[in-house]
Amino acid sequence: MSFPALVEPASELTVDEVRRYSRHLIIPDVGMAGQKRLKNAKVLVIGAGGLGSPALLYLAAAGVGTLGIVEFDEVDESNLQRQVIHGQSDVGRPKAVSAKESVAEVNPLVDVVVYEERLDNDNVLGIFEGWDLIVDGTDNFATRYMVNDAAYFLKIPYVWGSIYRFDGQASVFWPHAVDEDGQKVEAPCYRCLYPEPPPPGMVPSCAEGGVLGVLCASIGSIQVNEAIKVLTGAGEPAVGKLVIYDALELEWRKLKVRKDPRCALCGENPTVTELIDYEAFCGAVSDEAAEAAAGSTISVVQLEQMLKEREEGGKDFVLVDVREPNEFEINRIPGSVLIPKGEFLNGNALGELPADKPIVLHCKSGVRSAEALAVVKGAGYADAVHVGGGVVAWVNQIDPSQPAY
Ligand SMILES: [Zn+2]
Repeated sequence: MSFPALVEPASELTVDEVRRYSRHLIIPDVGMAGQKRLKNAKVLVIGAGGLGSPALLYLAAAGVGTLGIVEFDEVDESNLQRQVIHGQSDVGRPKAVSAKESVAEVNPLVDVVVYEERLDNDNVLGIFEGWDLIVDGTDNFATRYMVNDAAYFLKIPYVWGSIYRFDGQASVFWPHAVDEDGQKVEAPCYRCLYPEPPPPGMVPSCAEGGVLGVLCASIGSIQVNEAIKVLTGAGEPAVGKLVIYDALELEWRKLKVRKDPRCALCGENPTVTELIDYEAFCGAVSDEAAEAAAGSTISVVQLEQMLKEREEGGKDFVLVDVREPNEFEINRIPGSVLIPKGEFLNGNALGELPADKPIVLHCKSGVRSAEALAVVKGAGYADAVHVGGGVVAWVNQIDPSQPAY
């Protein structure tokens, strides 16, 4: 279904603007009225990363008058494979500043507001206040639920997107939407679609699992497409629709998402009536893993010492890398053997572990190895530990000659 335009039109376009946006102006569904609405629009983009990069560039080029950028991170070399708003010379610089400069280069007529801070419960409502629309490019569940709840409390519609390897999803969450007659529409929020975050460790982040760079452009551009439709009232935005893209099969699907009357946020008897503790809600690791890791976590410095002592005839142990084979190809801790985490969860790995040697587990960051440690300890191996910070810490602190990812 279609919705009335979210934003009132600006009073006029300048001669420069008419020239710049002429290809929009001759589209009947946009036209002068639509372009004036874009000029008047204030869109806040969360993150100048994989999704935020194409989103910001196209929102700027489209002539959205005011763009906000929430981003606390700095540009890293491993970002450049997909975060096309940043360039080689930006490595080490704040992403927010780099993104602002790129926006100015694409379209100097856009006002840019930068929030160089990490979004949290203390600042989220203040930052969101006053924006017409939010484009969410965050990559973790805690922030996603926070964005959803804060946007709901402030009645701001938002365009959500998510990416992983070759798979992308997008939707418009607008529980306060009204139709052309001013009647409230039964539109869902993110919690209606995903009432609970996945169990910790079940869904790897892009840093853990990877993402095809160009997928960011596919989903980020869909988010801009939907943003423009909501702002101008053109077409039928994906309110109550989940767009699913499979880049390997080159297949787009669109599923209906209904408002959940039992939704904790936008349902009939809401239990989430203010911001909650999102880190606790999503959990970095499961309770079992946290329990297993307590008192059984060693540092990479300790591991290096153990490896040295073993070389000099000291105590032997088995060092197991629980990442995936393609990660093992990129970098590794010397002397480690690869047994992916899935082999622990299905029990197959237990037969490969010696009963008479200590076991040291590690992964990329320490999340997956803690999950594996819980399985190992549960199977009765008392002499087992995992490495806090994993390969990332090893490369940072012990062996910077190896590539990071
Ligand atoms: Zn809901």
